[in-house]
Amino acid sequence: RAKANGRGSFARYDRDMGTEVQERVRLLRNLRNAFQHDRLFLNYQPQIDLSNGRIIGAEALIRWKTESGELVPPDSFIAIAEYSGLIVDIGQWVLRNACFRQISLEKAGFTNFRMAVNVSIAQFRHPQFLDMLEQALADTGINPALLELEITESMAMLEPDYVIGVIHKVKTLGISVAVDDFGTGFSSLSYLQRLAVDRLKIDRGFVNAIRSPAQTTECIAQTVIQLGRNLGLTVIAEGVETETQARLLKQMGCHEAQGYLFAHPLDSSELVRWLEQHRDSGCPLND
Ligand code: C2E
Ligand code: MG
Ligand code: MG
Ligand code: MG
Repeated sequence: RAKANGRGSFARYDRDMGTEVQERVRLLRNLRNAFQHDRLFLNYQPQIDLSNGRIIGAEALIRWKTESGELVPPDSFIAIAEYSGLIVDIGQWVLRNACFRQISLEKAGFTNFRMAVNVSIAQFRHPQFLDMLEQALADTGINPALLELEITESMAMLEPDYVIGVIHKVKTLGISVAVDDFGTGFSSLSYLQRLAVDRLKIDRGFVNAIRSPAQTTECIAQTVIQLGRNLGLTVIAEGVETETQARLLKQMGCHEAQGYLFAHPLDSSELVRWLEQHRDSGCPLND
């Protein structure tokens, strides 16, 4: 509401706030509805071993298909799911689905297929998170060594000691942990060491910055790969779009990669078809 002294800018500010809140309320209501009516589903993006082009596994990525058939990208609804707490239920659904998918891939003969699942800090922080994880392992029968949880670096930095504790317990279950969007969250070397994760995922912004051989020595990707290797971690690059990037990443010592160059995120039947096509030969890499 406008102040009594009549400063128009205040009135406008209030009105914009109002519509923004309404927008969020509507988005959350729609999301909740979509979740209840099975309009959320998972896509899977293959991950490749850069040393031999072999397929290691895939990352599960959530999708929302509206009633009108429109696809809403996760970047526009994960934040509100986190803020509202709905991510706890959605995240449990994602985890269980991804584990069941992994099992069905194993049964179809794609053995040792690793499934990576994104986990939000709100899930991590939830008092029943570890029980939920154990339940998912028990109900699906997934080999925990073939399950990986991805937590973003910036989220891990929010509550360092707490996150370190949960990671420790997750690893006790035999599940591995990756730091997602690595390089954007300003974590220190000593913190990384204490985190005791298995894998670093170089943020795709740094991968995108790799453009020509001449720059490789200065690029951040190189620094991140070196850092990961020095800590004895596996390094995976996300958002690899060109053969040049794949070749240079490999030369820089990056172990694994995922990105449009190899495959876009695929729905479950597309994934099976893609895996069948690449079953024997893997993904060709030019050195
Ligand atoms: P992320 O975990 O860092 O996932 C990588 C994102 O990069 C995905 O976007 C993927 O589709 C996209 N991508 C893959 N390859 C390429 C490429 O070559 N070039 C470019 N430009 N992009 C590529 P997506 O699927 O839209 O997901 C966005 C983010 O939403 C994810 O980032 C993740 O943080 C979050 N997210 C997705 N699914 C889940 C989920 O189930 N739970 C939670 N908590 N977050 C999720
Ligand atoms: Mg991820
Ligand atoms: Mg990422
Ligand atoms: Mg991201």
